[in-house]
Amino acid sequence: EEQCDKVTWISADVHDDGPEYRDKDFNHTKTMLERFHALFGLRKFRSNQQEAINCALERRYHLFVLMPTGGGKSLCYQLPAVLDHGVTFVVSPLRSLILDQTQKLLSLGIPCAALTGDRTPAEVSAIYAQCYASEPKLKLIYITPEKIGQSDQLNKLFSHLYAKNNLARFVIDEAHCISDWGHDFRPDYVKIGTLRDRYPHVPFTLLTATATPRVQRDMFHQMKIERHLSKLFIQSFNRSNLVYKCIAKGKTDGALARTAQLCLSEQFVGMCGIVYCFSRAECERSASYLSKSGVTAQAYHAGLIDQERTDVQTRWANDEYQVICATIAFGMGIDKPNVRFVIHLSMPKSIEGYYQESGRAGRDGEQAYCYLFYSYQDLIKTKRLIMTEQSADATNEAKKVRIDNLHRVYAYCLNNVDCRRTLLLEYFGEQYLSSQCKKYIETRCDNCCSVAQTKLVDFTILSKHIISLVDQLTKQFKSATINQVIDILKGSKQKTIKDAGLDKLEQFNIAEEVSRTNLERLLSKLILDGYLYQDISINDTYGTATAYIRLGKTNTFSSPIILSVCLKKENPNVSSTISNNSTHNRLVDACLMKLKDEIKLISSEYNIKYSTILSEK
Ligand code: ADP
Ligand code: MG
Ligand code: ZN
Repeated sequence: EEQCDKVTWISADVHDDGPEYRDKDFNHTKTMLERFHALFGLRKFRSNQQEAINCALERRYHLFVLMPTGGGKSLCYQLPAVLDHGVTFVVSPLRSLILDQTQKLLSLGIPCAALTGDRTPAEVSAIYAQCYASEPKLKLIYITPEKIGQSDQLNKLFSHLYAKNNLARFVIDEAHCISDWGHDFRPDYVKIGTLRDRYPHVPFTLLTATATPRVQRDMFHQMKIERHLSKLFIQSFNRSNLVYKCIAKGKTDGALARTAQLCLSEQFVGMCGIVYCFSRAECERSASYLSKSGVTAQAYHAGLIDQERTDVQTRWANDEYQVICATIAFGMGIDKPNVRFVIHLSMPKSIEGYYQESGRAGRDGEQAYCYLFYSYQDLIKTKRLIMTEQSADATNEAKKVRIDNLHRVYAYCLNNVDCRRTLLLEYFGEQYLSSQCKKYIETRCDNCCSVAQTKLVDFTILSKHIISLVDQLTKQFKSATINQVIDILKGSKQKTIKDAGLDKLEQFNIAEEVSRTNLERLLSKLILDGYLYQDISINDTYGTATAYIRLGKTNTFSSPIILSVCLKKENPNVSSTISNNSTHNRLVDACLMKLKDEIKLISSEYNIKYSTILSEK
């Protein structure tokens, strides 16, 4: 039932220790299975759950559990906590997450408590009293990380339980929050490291769904856990039930109209989904647009008061809305299994964010859709937002990182050749072969569905022309937009171009055989790779932004710059037979892999980002 994707990780010392704990009998096996069925009411373990639980119950190693969101990480510490002697402490970053978990456990009859800021003194005293008993009945206590740094009372309790051998385990949920390389760094998490020094014999379990190799290394380091004292349980981050697709959009309304269509008369009829929006205003506008179109939609964002938010969440859980139009404030702690689609009306801010947000679809394992609408205008809009932000943590350095993250998302959208899964998982340090995606019949990504053929095209000469055109335009007119550049390249006879004498620049009209879309791709690649620079000019009066193209830092080509894979559309009749012919597919795959390897080699040699690939469709 579970996909058995082979996982290859880029860092050599990071590999899945799951197999060591698979299909083995331990002293605990019988009781463990009995509790699993009777107490948790579950029938079958998911990927790596049993392995991690075996390792935890063995109590010889610390555990790192890396699983995608919805993979079932909680069970990996909850079941051991029930069986272990003593109390397990779970550090969790959000009160809403804690509430969610404790309610679930209590409903299963598992004694647990939460020491969060909103507890009354009487409640807190009761929890402490239970823990000071000689045989504490509580099995799990949830705490927020700031408590570790602030509460002497809590630290005394740890020491007391430790001395009595009643401190079973520390669990760090959302452990990536400890790394400032991560997208979700929380300074309070750093204090967790001190627990390791103070209670050296207590095993730790670290859980996360976010683990780029850098964050992984940092987690080990911050927690002072040596690799040889730990076991890793790493599941492929691939979500085999999700269909990834990127769609170029014109205006936001076009994407909204398309969304309404999908909800009312196509794939998504009667199914519920999340529509992620750029801003609060866009949430409101989208919700009202969809409602007017006949979709039951509701806006959700940080601007709502607590009561409204809880209300929306409850009604959403009860399937009263088909669509929630949300900002990313709608996320952590939302555990609705039957979300059938996640649509991004605007580009997400990072690949990692996209993986998380789109990952809220299909938590029940059934097929679900992730559609991403993108446009060049969105890139400018979001860049503008980043550049004009004036909060304390919006340093120039931070802005650079954010713009870089955004560029990567744009490159992901533009890439209509590589497997979406390969591109997404690459970001988590996982090497995923597109041949696996192609094997899925129902859930292949858009690029793997494409039956087009590929070829290599060297755009170096055209790129040189573009650079000198931009140079000339900047000198002559002070500015040029991407569309002006493309118009000129296409030999446009538009009035404005004629009036400016730009139709005389015939030496540049060489791009006739290259489509407009591909010129846009080429220009975007030149921007992403730093050959051109996108200068965002903001009109303070109207708050509008225009992006001008200027020369970048590296505008001299000492090496061939762009080697791209081009797709040529097949005769549709031919391609449908090709796609059913697996021998042929394998051949095409093999050729493609070889081509890509070559490009990767060349691009690394010249230090060129292998990100955007041009294609002819
Ligand atoms: P994560 O923390 O990895 O995002 P959770 O632990 O919250 O995921 O689990 C996600 C959902 O999957 C929960 O509703 C949980 O009850 C369910 N779940 C976990 N393990 C299993 C299992 N073995 N069989 C069925 N459902 C499971
Ligand atoms: Mg979780
Ligand atoms: Zn694919």
